[in-house]
Amino acid sequence: MIYLDNAATTRTSDEAVRAMQPYMDTYYGNPSSAYEFGGIGREVIEQGRRSIARMINCGEGEIYFTSGGTEGDNFAIKQICDANRKRKGHIITTGIEHHALLHSCEAVERQGFDVTYLSVDGMGRVRLNELANAVRGDTILISVMYANNEIGTIEPIERIGKIARDRGVLFHTDAVQSFAHIPIDVKHCHVDMLSASSHKFHGPKGVGFMYVRDGIRLHPFMDGGSQEKGMRAGTGNVAGIVGMVTAAEEAYAAMRQNIRKETKLRDYFIRRVTSEIPRVYLNGHPSYRLPNNINISIDGVDGAVLMVMLDLQGICVSTGSACTQGNGTPSHVLRALGFSYERASSSIRLTMSDDTTKEELDYTLSVIKSEVKKLREKN
Ligand code: PLP
Repeated sequence: MIYLDNAATTRTSDEAVRAMQPYMDTYYGNPSSAYEFGGIGREVIEQGRRSIARMINCGEGEIYFTSGGTEGDNFAIKQICDANRKRKGHIITTGIEHHALLHSCEAVERQGFDVTYLSVDGMGRVRLNELANAVRGDTILISVMYANNEIGTIEPIERIGKIARDRGVLFHTDAVQSFAHIPIDVKHCHVDMLSASSHKFHGPKGVGFMYVRDGIRLHPFMDGGSQEKGMRAGTGNVAGIVGMVTAAEEAYAAMRQNIRKETKLRDYFIRRVTSEIPRVYLNGHPSYRLPNNINISIDGVDGAVLMVMLDLQGICVSTGSACTQGNGTPSHVLRALGFSYERASSSIRLTMSDDTTKEELDYTLSVIKSEVKKLREKN
């Protein structure tokens, strides 16, 4: 199998699996229990918190462990609105966010909050003047993703953060696709809240974290015990957190070399596919782009059909976000770029991991070439 869908999820690294095991079968105590056996889990969770905090340049007390990106996005939107439930207010986001964010916005709209969904340019970048003009007296939050999960476009986060800070508005970013892939500094970028997810960087599924800047007062997201300083009740996911932190540490140690390697392979593949197959177009920004993301439209070919053809030959790619697969409508992200229904429906996304090889890409390209030829001949 050639796995080129690492934006959907990644293989849990051997190191992460090894690190998790003892916290399931040996040190399985409840991290909230007062005796020493529970304290082992408690200590490793706190070590993990310190490690994650160092990676994004924040304090350890500003990290909250969650179940992943969906929870983080819900947490940010709903808890900021809950803190403003009496006065209500206005949120600014973009039309290309993940559904975890968009559907959370729709939920608070039903409660009387107002949401502006900014358009983006043809490469998926937020227009800063539009963002600045959208800020109103009652704007309580700006939420813009760090990098897009479908087209890989990296947003001008530092400049968005500056606008938010200058206007006294809180800034949340969904960094699910970027944390542990590219460097992130929340202080430098004036980020107030950030969500991340372990299974996107070779950690286990069902665990993630949320950064909430000190001084932002929120109500608990999950009611129950006093875990996570009472903000997110529930028995600590010791093994999951250990696996996530181990994977993040591995990713940080190899980040520079992974970025260099993946960027080179990405640009190599894009160059070949767009020059060797007629009428193939790159979607997203050519350089403000996640190192592992390739998203192309192939004129005259249905992306979903091509995906099945590749699957039959053992190659896993996707036609957009895994969460919207199979619902029959083309990607809201590609439509937001202003693309026609046809161009949006003719896209496929290939997302590499640090162990993707040139040979795998060469083979994938040769299969795409022959399948595209067959599909175009049929039409
Ligand atoms: N946000 C983005 C940008 C994503 O790509 C995803 C997952 O695809 C999520 C949020 C949801 O994360 P999780 O799968 O951890 O709930």
